[in-house]
Amino acid sequence: MDEINHNILYRPNLGDKKLALLLDPEKADLSALPITEECHPDYIFVGGSTGGDTTPFVRALKEKLSIVNCQLSIILFPGSAAQFTPEADAILYLSLLSGDNPEYLVGQQVKSARRIHASSVEVIPTAYILIDGGVETSTMRVTGTKPLNPSTAEGVQTIIDTCIAAELMGKKAIYLEAGSGAKTPVSPDIIREVRKNTSLTLIVGGGIRTPEAMNAAYSAGADIVVIGNHFELHPEDLKSFCRNIEISKSRDLEISKSQNLETDERFMRLALCEAEKALAADEIPIGCVIVSQGQIIGRGHNLTETLSDVTAHAEIQAITAATQTLGGKYLPDATLYVTVEPCPMCAGAIGWSQISRIVFGAPDPKRGYRTYAPRVFHPKATVTAGVLEDECRTLMQEFFKSKRS
Ligand SMILES: [Zn+2]
Repeated sequence: MDEINHNILYRPNLGDKKLALLLDPEKADLSALPITEECHPDYIFVGGSTGGDTTPFVRALKEKLSIVNCQLSIILFPGSAAQFTPEADAILYLSLLSGDNPEYLVGQQVKSARRIHASSVEVIPTAYILIDGGVETSTMRVTGTKPLNPSTAEGVQTIIDTCIAAELMGKKAIYLEAGSGAKTPVSPDIIREVRKNTSLTLIVGGGIRTPEAMNAAYSAGADIVVIGNHFELHPEDLKSFCRNIEISKSRDLEISKSQNLETDERFMRLALCEAEKALAADEIPIGCVIVSQGQIIGRGHNLTETLSDVTAHAEIQAITAATQTLGGKYLPDATLYVTVEPCPMCAGAIGWSQISRIVFGAPDPKRGYRTYAPRVFHPKATVTAGVLEDECRTLMQEFFKSKRS
């Protein structure tokens, strides 16, 4: 449950472009679901503008997903209170802020409140905003509301103001909807303006038919792109959308890497100096430095043998030193550089300290936190992997080789 919370309630990090597949229980053909273990969206949204209880559908969907060995979060995107099911992982608790129909602003929410409250379904308070996509959609018909008009300056301002209002009301996500089968998706210009004016998780759906349109939405600032109608017609296209996300994610990573690389390499060299100190003491050579505002505020290296203490890892030493330097237990503005991917224990300590950026050199698939506790850091923390990876790894390999010989 928490996993969904962290993914949707907090804005994903750079490169975390999420794809949601929207299934309407009244239309979707589960036998043609194009999901495989290797190629799948990040979430499945379930809902439609008409239709009732989604329990049988969600159960069948779960069964289908377990057959293909794919554990995806199932998130309700309900058209009415009747569509709620406690079988889902989360619910977009939608309020149709673009319209003035009280039934969809608050009425359906009141009708479903008690059942949702009694369930363990994660609730994601979401502002649902209809934007004119050039066709009359079933949502418009069912809710009796008009979408906001993005083609005039005044209309654009209303869209932005509605999104700002959503944030002020305490919503956690904004869903910009052009409507199922929209002629035109929500334009990148609108997405960009909304992104500039709010910090909420931004979900964009309706009328997206090509990977290019999807990428344009991401580039403009969308966190989650929702595709429903198109995959109903062309399930085979899921593969090319997924591949495109991977490509654009790796491009983003390259850009962010090169921006930070110079600084990161400089501090990683200092972490390597710490690792050398461990090596000189016949310890597993891992070193760490913690930096705040360009200054080192803590450093440490592995001392488990010297101190005969299994918890005496480099990161723990450096965190202790840094908190002593600053005189407080939290380090929210700090970046931690460590030569090897932190273990779950250190990652836990890094999480507790609220360190906001973690940079490591060599990955450690066997003992690293990513295998055991990938969400252990502060939800807003960012991670950069692979800085001076070869040097960090070589130091480790040489140490273990010398131990074996
Ligand atoms: Zn550790």
